Amino acid sequence: MEKSRAILSLEQQFGAELKDLDEKNLLWNPKSLESASEPWSMVDGKKVLMFCSNNYLGLTNHPEVKEAAIEAVRKYGAGSGSVRPIAGNMALHLKLEETIARFKRTEDAIYYNTGFTANSGAIPAIAGEGDLIISDELNHGSIIDGVRLTKAERAIFKHKNMDDLKRVLEETRSKTYRRIWIITDGVFSMDGDIAPLDKIYGLADQFGAHIYVDDAHGDGVLGSHGRGIVSHFNLDGKVDMEMGTFSKGFGTMGGLIATTKTIKKYLLNKSRTYLLTGSQPPAVIAASIKALEVLERDDSLVKKLWSNTKYFKGKAKELGFDTGESETPITPIMTYDESKARDLSLKLFEEGVYALPIVFPMVAKGKARIRTMIRADFSKEDLDFALEKFGKVGKELGIVK
Ligand code: PMP
Repeated sequence: MEKSRAILSLEQQFGAELKDLDEKNLLWNPKSLESASEPWSMVDGKKVLMFCSNNYLGLTNHPEVKEAAIEAVRKYGAGSGSVRPIAGNMALHLKLEETIARFKRTEDAIYYNTGFTANSGAIPAIAGEGDLIISDELNHGSIIDGVRLTKAERAIFKHKNMDDLKRVLEETRSKTYRRIWIITDGVFSMDGDIAPLDKIYGLADQFGAHIYVDDAHGDGVLGSHGRGIVSHFNLDGKVDMEMGTFSKGFGTMGGLIATTKTIKKYLLNKSRTYLLTGSQPPAVIAASIKALEVLERDDSLVKKLWSNTKYFKGKAKELGFDTGESETPITPIMTYDESKARDLSLKLFEEGVYALPIVFPMVAKGKARIRTMIRADFSKEDLDFALEKFGKVGKELGIVK
């Protein structure tokens, strides 16, 4: 751009937007995690109870998972050296995909570097001109970006509202689409509620649609041994594409799609976020394989996660807190008021509990909350500590009596 055309410098343009965000209290200023993500973590120089991590099962710190990563570095090095289709398709990546398929009880599976790139790469591959995508209005941003990259027609249904999904399916019945995809989050990350996948399956079956479910927050949490939402609803073999992530319950990093051999082959030929990016280093892959092996062998961490969740939710309600629509370890503590959510978070941090406020635009205006994330490796004492602090600060701020 010619200098003379610029009325405002980049400093001024971006600076003005940042100032605006700051004035609206919408600027991110992330705190620094100075230890492993443990129940008691070092955050900005302070030891605090980690109440906002997605490390549901504490697998990031599991000795066998860590050892697998260290061993893989010794044996295979620190990086893969290439994209998967050229020279970065290590035997470890293939073993991980085999392990995912076995864990998810599907014919096959494909691994992406992140859950975000699974959604933003797979969705534009499976849908294009002549197709229709129907999305839940509260789907994750990575699904929204994936949908934006397609030439498919789009429709939205009201959050978890099966009458509305049926309305969309009926309204589009007269058109002949090549494929119709219903795409939904499995567990919704802001409220912790679960998509009615059994009912979605019923409608998909009735109208000849296909299902793509994003189970990022169901992996390691829902179903037998944490197999996810498909297992939770006993829909094994009935969901076309089950996407997930290793970055939360599984404790490492990466995206997955459990599916058929044909869809996998199609994706690995068509999906740019698979084809055009260097593959994950051996440490991440070996640790991910081990995390699934630990879960296959033993479901005690998943059980502990649920008993901790029930305990915390029950006691929080007894204290008078409103935990919203949550059905999972994601437990919002509703304040509705934006500034109360911020004050609650600040005071909790001072008291030794790290839990973040979720406010507009992440949730609708007037639906502010603190989002607490329960973990399997919290002890009863940890949960009681948090509850005591929530009670104390909640009273000070007039959120509970
Ligand atoms: N989908 C959902 C519902 C998520 O919550 C997230 C993580 N924020 C992702 C996808 C992206 O996963 P990843 O962290 O593996 O990129």
